[in-house]
Amino acid sequence: MNFEELGIEDRLLRAITEMGFEKPMPVQEQVLPLLLTHETDLVALAQTGTGKTAAFGLPAIQRLDLQSPATEVLILSPTRELCLQIAKDLKQYSKYVDGCSVVAVYGGASIDVQKKEVQKGAKIIVATPGRIHDMVRRRFVDLSQVKVTVLDEADEMLDMGFKDDLDAILEQTPDTKNTWLFSATMPDEVARIAKGYMNNPQEITVGTRNSGAQNVKHCYYLVQAKDRYLALKRIADYNPNIYAIIFCRTRTETQEVATALIRDGYNADALHGDLSQPQRDHVMNRFRCKNLQMLVATDVAARGLDVSNLTHVINYNLPDEIEVYTHRSGRTGRADKTGISIAIVNLREKHKIKKIEAIIKKKFEQLPIPTGMEVCQKQFFNMIHRVEHVDVNYDEINPFIGEVVKQLEWMDKEELIRRFVSIEFNRFLEYYRNAPDLNVKEKEERKAIEKKAKSTVHDDSGMARLIINLGYKDKIQPQRLIGMINDRCRDTKIKIGKIDISELFTYIDVDGNYANDIIEAFHGESYRGRPLIVQAAKSKRKDKDERRREEKEFRKQRNEHQQRNSHDDYPRSHKKDKKRPDERSRGDRKKHR
Ligand code: ADP
Ligand code: MG
Repeated sequence: MNFEELGIEDRLLRAITEMGFEKPMPVQEQVLPLLLTHETDLVALAQTGTGKTAAFGLPAIQRLDLQSPATEVLILSPTRELCLQIAKDLKQYSKYVDGCSVVAVYGGASIDVQKKEVQKGAKIIVATPGRIHDMVRRRFVDLSQVKVTVLDEADEMLDMGFKDDLDAILEQTPDTKNTWLFSATMPDEVARIAKGYMNNPQEITVGTRNSGAQNVKHCYYLVQAKDRYLALKRIADYNPNIYAIIFCRTRTETQEVATALIRDGYNADALHGDLSQPQRDHVMNRFRCKNLQMLVATDVAARGLDVSNLTHVINYNLPDEIEVYTHRSGRTGRADKTGISIAIVNLREKHKIKKIEAIIKKKFEQLPIPTGMEVCQKQFFNMIHRVEHVDVNYDEINPFIGEVVKQLEWMDKEELIRRFVSIEFNRFLEYYRNAPDLNVKEKEERKAIEKKAKSTVHDDSGMARLIINLGYKDKIQPQRLIGMINDRCRDTKIKIGKIDISELFTYIDVDGNYANDIIEAFHGESYRGRPLIVQAAKSKRKDKDERRREEKEFRKQRNEHQQRNSHDDYPRSHKKDKKRPDERSRGDRKKHR
């Protein structure tokens, strides 16, 4: 069936044809005939990038009564970016529909300007819940004539705690309106809440519920937690033409990774909620027009965004909620293109891959992290490719070329190529020469963890005693230690008992059931560049001898570490190294994580 047969009217048809929509996507095929002819509530679930915007946008426009000035359609979306994107899409669809005014209403921009726009007449309002609620409260908008409300990315809105806003907004709309809910995923709990907004909704699910995009390849790299950032750089360097979103878990992490990438000479920037609206717009614009290669973002900031032709989606850290992965990977492989979704995981997180596989019903492929030489090779051939395809401005160059040819006459062709390529290539070669292997030797690592955990001693109360190589010399405080544990064992609430800080190390009593989890969680981590050691304390009671032995051991380790790092075999002051600091300089590694 084509769009016309599904009941789309001519003026919309004309616009979408111009946009390159030739035939309807599956969700459109199912949703359009229903919404164009029936007054019904609807829950539509379809993977990301399958054209849900048009599935609700086209019927919403077509059902407007253009004789009346009232607002008839209210579309709610979780973020400002998505709101702007939907508004833009709807404006395009309705290009040939006179009087179809679409107004975007979102936080972080002038409410007065938006009020004026709405009051000039808005047939369709696309809004974020917070701002439209504000406008409702201040009576800047009249929603009493609304016929259709759309909840796009409904689960995210409910997840973000917009429920109260939604309730207040929807209260202002007539009971007779239809509510259409669109999302890629719908966890059961959210589904239950969402049903409360609807009467007998029709349900349309395209593909398997909560399934991921079909044309996305999923792979993961296994690294030590401390090497996460280095692995990211490898991936970026191995894919010189990368155009990717890198997902982080928190705003802080997002900013840290972006800052580190920028400092290391990559074309990257951050998108998260701590940025002002103009900053976010600026970043998004640069990214959309590909002036930016890597966008480091939080889930919320990037939900629903439609950026075409992404080569990769990178999970710098896997999301806490596994379902979020579907949304992330759905940013690539959109509208029939193929894409790659990468997860960077450590041993402890590997089990999450299994869980995700169960949800998306697809297998991940484990890939080895490219070695330094592999990266160099890739870069080398990429440079040659660039030489082959570069635009040459003959007119401007010709006046000098004679003299240059003469000057280089003594070189043969091969030597010439070597030299031109070296201009760029040396940077990579220097950086990657002797670069460490970042791949985790899984068996060996597991053994090492087991050894550390071996003698976890439980006392009667079920608490076990761990020892960590941080002490008051590191200015470490109990709160910070507890924070570090919670950070790394996010899925569980672990009881922590007595914390006994010495100069170089600390004893911590923890719930015996989780002692080994904690040991595993800290394995391969570092603190201010020094490898962190968390292991079972040898004795249950801290007798003096044992304490002295521990002290001696940790002092030795510390000294060894210092010695190893005092003579750095890398020329760090070298100009080119500044751009991409040496992987083995451990100085501020902490920042990189
Ligand atoms: P979703 O909301 O399901 O994640 P979008 O509505 O953002 O997906 O659409 C993804 C991309 O597919 C957009 O760039 C959109 O323009 C394009 N698209 C939608 N429908 C069609 C179609 N029928 N033919 C070609 N491209 C389409
Ligand atoms: Mg969408």
